Amino acid sequence: MIIDCPCCGRRPVSEFSYIGDAEAAKPDMHAPAAEWVKAVYTRTNPRGMHLEHWQHLHGCRQFLKIQRDTLTHEIFSVELVGVYASGEGE
Ligand SMILES: [Zn+2]
Repeated sequence: MIIDCPCCGRRPVSEFSYIGDAEAAKPDMHAPAAEWVKAVYTRTNPRGMHLEHWQHLHGCRQFLKIQRDTLTHEIFSVELVGVYASGEGE
């Protein structure tokens, strides 16, 4: 799988690290620990279109939001997240 990083261009997936589901809502900061355990460690393993967080760990180290088909591995969009996405980090 090749990921087109907005900063580095087309790079092999071995340079990236999967961070987690970008669609799952996080609990309130003061929610019980059991809710946080479920949010952090429970995976849905969806089949088909999915929105995910990745990090270009062995490249620019930026965090990315990637929309891809988990069945075909086709990538539909890649965008920066965090301060660099809004231009605040420049
Ligand atoms: Zn990069």
